[in-house]
Amino acid sequence: MLGQIKYPHLFTPLDLGFTKLKNRVLMGSMHTGLEEREGGFERMAAYFAERARGGVGMIITGGISPNMEGGFGAKLSTPEEALRHKLVTDAVHAADPGVKMCMQILHMGPLAHGEDAVAPSAVRSRISRQTPTELDAAGIEKQLSDMVNCAEMAKKAGYDGVEVIGSAGYLLSTFLVEKTNRRTDDWGGSFENRMRFPVECIRRIREAVGTEYILIFRIAAMDMLEGGMSWDEVVQLGKAIEAAGANIMSTHFTWHEATVPTIATMVPRAAFTSVTGRLRKELSIPVITSNRINMPDVAEDVLVRGDADLVSMARPMLADPDIIIKTLEGREDEINTCIGCNQACLDHTFTGQEVSCLVNPRACHETLLEYKPTTSQKRIAVIGAGPAGLSYSEVAAKRGHQVTLFDAADEIGGQFNLAKKIPGKEEFYETLRYFAKMIDVRGIELRLSTIVTADMLRAGGFDEIVIATGIEPRVPELEGISHHKVVSYIDVIKGIKTVGKSVAIMGAGGIGFDVAELISHKGKSASLDIDTFAKEWGVDFKNHPRGGVTGVEPIVEAADREVYLLQRKLTPVGRGLGKTTGWTHRIALARRNVKMINGCDYVKIDDLGLHVRIGDQLQILDVDTVVVCAGQNPLRSLYDELQADGLSVSLVGGAFEASELDAKRAINQACHMASAV
Ligand code: FAD
Ligand code: NAP
Ligand code: SF4
Repeated sequence: MLGQIKYPHLFTPLDLGFTKLKNRVLMGSMHTGLEEREGGFERMAAYFAERARGGVGMIITGGISPNMEGGFGAKLSTPEEALRHKLVTDAVHAADPGVKMCMQILHMGPLAHGEDAVAPSAVRSRISRQTPTELDAAGIEKQLSDMVNCAEMAKKAGYDGVEVIGSAGYLLSTFLVEKTNRRTDDWGGSFENRMRFPVECIRRIREAVGTEYILIFRIAAMDMLEGGMSWDEVVQLGKAIEAAGANIMSTHFTWHEATVPTIATMVPRAAFTSVTGRLRKELSIPVITSNRINMPDVAEDVLVRGDADLVSMARPMLADPDIIIKTLEGREDEINTCIGCNQACLDHTFTGQEVSCLVNPRACHETLLEYKPTTSQKRIAVIGAGPAGLSYSEVAAKRGHQVTLFDAADEIGGQFNLAKKIPGKEEFYETLRYFAKMIDVRGIELRLSTIVTADMLRAGGFDEIVIATGIEPRVPELEGISHHKVVSYIDVIKGIKTVGKSVAIMGAGGIGFDVAELISHKGKSASLDIDTFAKEWGVDFKNHPRGGVTGVEPIVEAADREVYLLQRKLTPVGRGLGKTTGWTHRIALARRNVKMINGCDYVKIDDLGLHVRIGDQLQILDVDTVVVCAGQNPLRSLYDELQADGLSVSLVGGAFEASELDAKRAINQACHMASAV
């Protein structure tokens, strides 16, 4: 097939001696939230089977705890629990017997949610609410035998192997570094003692499961925090784990408490693979690399460079279950690319919601959101080719409807055409490429540069009319809002209006932050250049200091401009941003000296600047430009006109509800509506 010629490394099988992986791509471990839910295993079975059919070589489940103290409910320690897992392994092997299905054993240690969390020492993590209990010698033995039992149960459940996570600030990694392991017995002190627990864990699991079983260890190749492992320690641990019986080493980067972004969209693609490549030279077992490898060419390049034997794609498998089969068939331009936003996956995990995907709401909802062929074809007009209109059109046309998609602009994408211009959001181009291709593939009639009116639609003879016209920016009622200093965010991002040397941004939502990023930015976008990224986040890939970080506050180049980012609320600025990415934006702007001010009442705008009241103090911000990013209102006059005529018309996306609208909600709503039309 075409893909095998274009990506020869990616499609070369990997022989592990007793078993073979059919290609070099695995679906990395992701917690879905289904593990603990009623009916969750049935849904997981459908979710994983769909990925198995999509061509991936190996799948690793989300983390499963070996005991109560190690996790948050999704435990595997009994034969009854193993039976539930069998639903998953049977479904995957039925979908494709060639796919290897492994289970991740995750002992969260000090990050476990319950009050009975345990750790080598009673050291509370920066991101945890409770201090763990220090394990005594018997407690350590119990944890080890629970890990072994969990692996045995996984084998019983039909898994082809297990992965033991030894990174991220979970139990095993807390043994490894001095800041969390203060023991003076055989399990602490020298590095040899500190690595005893993970090594013993692998040794005993291997003994229990036998030689012909996949046993992966996930090593923190870079902890990304001060006081983490040195490079020599990483190598020493890797070799000891190999000797203890692991047959694949998976490299991981970061502890959850680290302050370096490692998977957000601002991280360059394949940023960390050079570290895996260095470790690979020290070991003789196959090595997996990961993080921001979201397209087949990126994965192939990693393998060509010799950075790894296997490439882990986790979130890209949420975004498109068929990514590998499309690659194999030479249909890469049909891949729905993971944009690294975290909005529906990791943000959901960390807020206790079921995982899904912004660009693919079916992810983890395979049995609930189905795109079945229609039995009565309709002629549908979709007005607006933003994310909502595009998604609706794609799904409706896929189901067999005849769709005409209109947009006033001369390109598809709506507000995504603004988003893609923000440094760090270049991945949005991929979503637009995907939709452009799908318009072709699905035979959607596209009419650009067409401002649709109610009369046009009345005359069109459509069975259904879907209004996806999006939003219009809110203009606050404020003295001086028409002053020549005042500009809209749309004009600034499009480059229609320039901003001066000093700028006040009114509104610190997602768009206010993006505008602040755009106008405070200087030089290359760090997301497109690994060296710039490393400099801006204090990472030293080449010298690999302890933990991988320099420990010095990074000096970040900034535009020669004074920027104020303002909001009226008293909550900290940026509180409403994504759970797992908001902090990266706050840090990035602070490093460029953007002044973020909350509790700010706007009084007026005049030649002197923006007059504000902060607490009891009246102040004049002597700025050249005021950029309004004060939210949006729905644009739905067409709907109001047509509904009065009794036509079958519906609203979707921003046109339906502009408040707190994001692309996740717009796409999700559109896909659900189109699945039922
Ligand atoms: P829109 O994208 O606004 O599309 C509406 C379309 O309708 C437009 O193309 C318009 O031309 C067309 N239209 C309007 N009237 C007519 C008419 N009469 N005839 C024909 N066509 C018409 N969301 C996220 O989830 N994550 C992000 O990181 C993110 N970043 C963003 C960054 C920026 C700078 C901006 C501006 C937005 C960002 N968003 C983000 C928000 C996201 O883009 C919107 O939520 C999403 O675009 C809304 O989709 P929509 O289809 O409802 O509307
Ligand atoms: P938003 O997040 O709702 O923020 C609007 C801002 O304007 C708030 O700071 C609000 O805070 C302020 N505001 C509201 N009414 C105002 C008024 N009358 N006068 C002055 N200020 C007012 O909306 P947005 O920034 O326009 O973003 C639109 C959507 O796109 C959001 O839902 C967002 O999630 C999404 N988006 C997401 C990202 C992302 O990275 N995930 C990036 C960009 C956009 P105060 O009321 O406190 O002043
Ligand atoms: Fe990727 Fe965003 Fe989907 Fe998560 S929600 S899988 S980061 S596109």
